[in-house]
Amino acid sequence: MSYLGTIGLEIHAQLRTASKLFCSCPAAFSDQPNTHVCNICLGFPGALPSLNGQALRQALKVASALGMAIPAEIRFDRKHYFYPDLAKSYQVSQFYSTLGRNGSSSVEVRGRVIPVRIREVHLEEDAGKLLHAGEESMVDFNRAGVPLLELVTEPDFHIGEEAETFFRYYQLLLRTIDSSEANMELGQMRCDANVSVSRQRNQLGTRVEIKNISSPRFIRLAIDYEIQRQIGILEAGGTIQHETRRWNENRGRTESMRSKELALDYRYLQEPDLAVVRITPAELKKIGSLPELPDPRRSL
Ligand code: ADP
Ligand code: ZN
Ligand code: MG
Repeated sequence: MSYLGTIGLEIHAQLRTASKLFCSCPAAFSDQPNTHVCNICLGFPGALPSLNGQALRQALKVASALGMAIPAEIRFDRKHYFYPDLAKSYQVSQFYSTLGRNGSSSVEVRGRVIPVRIREVHLEEDAGKLLHAGEESMVDFNRAGVPLLELVTEPDFHIGEEAETFFRYYQLLLRTIDSSEANMELGQMRCDANVSVSRQRNQLGTRVEIKNISSPRFIRLAIDYEIQRQIGILEAGGTIQHETRRWNENRGRTESMRSKELALDYRYLQEPDLAVVRITPAELKKIGSLPELPDPRRSL
C-alpha cells in the first residue's frame, strides 16, 4: 500500500528590533535573569502597552515580500492560558485579523518546483522562560514581550526535504530584508511541523504536531521519521492519535509530549488596551520597497 505524507509548517521568528513589542525594554538577550523587564512586560495591573512601530514595519516587510494581503487596520487579540511563563495569563497575538494573509512562495527540490501557499503571518509577543533546578522552578521574563512573527503554511509539503528547503529559504529571506537575524541557535527562530499520512491525495489524515524543532536538518529528520512511524501504525491496523510530539535528537525519533484531545479554549478577545493601527497605501508602498529577494530556485 502506498502512502502520501503531508506537512504544514508553523515558524516563529524574532523580529529585529531594539525594544520589545509593547514596551521599551531591550529585546536583546541577557544572561542576567529578569533584567530586561518592566511593569508592562511583567503584566502589572494598570500597565498599558503601546505598539513598537519598528516591529510592525519589520513584520510588514515580510508580509510584503511574500505577496500577502494586508488589512487596512492592524488589530491585536488576547489569547488566554494559564502557565507560569506568562505573567498576564494571556499572550497578545493576532487571531481575528492577522497581519498578512494568502501569501505565496515556492521551493525547488530535486529539480521540481513546489508551490507553497502561506496561509498567514501574525505578530505576537514571546513568553518568559522557565528554569528548573532540582525541586525548584524559576522564571526569567527577559524574553517576555519580545516581538515574534509567526508564519503558517498550508499543508503543501510531502517530504522532509521540501519542508527543510522552505525553512532555509524563509531564513534567507528574513536575513535579506533584515527583518530577523533568524539564528536558530540563539532561539531567534523555532519551527513546528504538522505531519500526517494518507492513502489519497485529496483526503488528509490525522495530524501530529512536532514542536520546537531546533535546526533545519532536524526538521527533515523529524518529519521523515514521523511519516514512517505513522505508516507503520496504519499498516499494523492502528489509528493515529492527534497529539503533540517532540524530536529527540539523541535517539533519532519523535516522542509523545501530550495528547491534543482536550482542545484548549483560548477565549480570544480583541485587545482593548491597544489602539487600532491604520496603514495608508503610501506607507505600505514605502515599507514594501525591498532589496532584491533571494530566488526560491537557487540551491540553499
Ligand atoms: P490548528 O487547529 O492548530 O490551528 P490549523 O488548521 O491552523 O490547525 O493548522 C496548523 C498547521 O497544520 C498549518 O500549517 C496547516 O497547514 C497544518 N495542517 C493542517 N492539517 C494538516 C494535516 N492533516 N496534515 C498535515 N498538516 C496539516
Ligand atoms: Zn518591558
Ligand atoms: Mg493554528
